[in-house]
Amino acid sequence: MKIFYSDKHAAHDCAGEIKDGELKPCFENPSRADAIDQAFKQNGFDTLYTPSDFGLEPVLKVHDADYIEFLHTAWQEWQAIGRKGDIFPLVWPGAGMRREVQPENIDGKLGIYAFDSGTPICAGTWGVVYQGAQAAISTADAVMRKQTQHAFSFSRPPGHHAMPGQYGGYCFLNNAAIAAQYMRDNGAKKVAVLDVDYHHGNGTQAIFYNRADVLVVNVHSDPKHEYPYYLGHADEVGDGAGNGFNVNLPLPKGTGWDKYLPTLNKALHSLEQFAPDALVVSFGADTYKDDPLGFFKLDTNHFIEIGAAIAKLEIPTATILEGGYAIEALGDNVIAMINGLSAK
Ligand SMILES: [Zn+2]
Repeated sequence: MKIFYSDKHAAHDCAGEIKDGELKPCFENPSRADAIDQAFKQNGFDTLYTPSDFGLEPVLKVHDADYIEFLHTAWQEWQAIGRKGDIFPLVWPGAGMRREVQPENIDGKLGIYAFDSGTPICAGTWGVVYQGAQAAISTADAVMRKQTQHAFSFSRPPGHHAMPGQYGGYCFLNNAAIAAQYMRDNGAKKVAVLDVDYHHGNGTQAIFYNRADVLVVNVHSDPKHEYPYYLGHADEVGDGAGNGFNVNLPLPKGTGWDKYLPTLNKALHSLEQFAPDALVVSFGADTYKDDPLGFFKLDTNHFIEIGAAIAKLEIPTATILEGGYAIEALGDNVIAMINGLSAK
């Protein structure tokens, strides 16, 4: 197990997020990664690797160039017109309005590049999401170079909601998709992504939806009742060449281990049938019973079982942290997953 972590993540520290009609403290904040870092140290994982810098090329394989340019310059643009607080979108192109026009004003641009209002951008955001993507690529690279069967990165913010050209759900660059594409470009003919975050990984699904070389499997909370609502339903099976290569296994809120395990087994069965050369796991610890943003009822020991079940597939695997907001338990939950993945 090789673990990648950038301690520069704390610069993405926004003042608040819009939730339930109020400006609340950000659930996705630096204490998440700090808690995990501390847990690793306390549990004898002495060596955490600093990510290498692979540049933007692997990022641009899954994200649109104009979107990356926007993320890179948004904060300067926002400040240049005298805005004081963090960046939030104000207006979207609704049905019947023109999406293809290119607004020059930042508010107009935000309606094109953001898909929700719950994801603030602040001064350090771009630098931190760039580092997060580099950590994800570093895990993929370590696995493809056969340095390790399993690599893990716990950068923040998460990535699996990020679309090819839009951010949302705290996510800006789709770390898992970038890692999966990097594996494809560096020797793996077939790659699978298993997403076990509480929320559906709409961005990862969208990025690979038309492709047969990357299988995407999600086990998540039913989007009829849960974010991201507009993707993640069971009838989304892929399109064109990708038909049959997208698997959504939604579960109701309140799901405990008794119902989760058979569904996880179904997901693992799809992976076995696909027989990928490499695997990316989007691991969200927000399936934990006390998570403030997730409503499944998994306990810490269940993450050991999830990790061990994935390890049994014996596929070279890059695991990337997505959500998980119960800070007091986050370190233990991540260690449990790592111990499971490391099980023989
Ligand atoms: Zn989540």
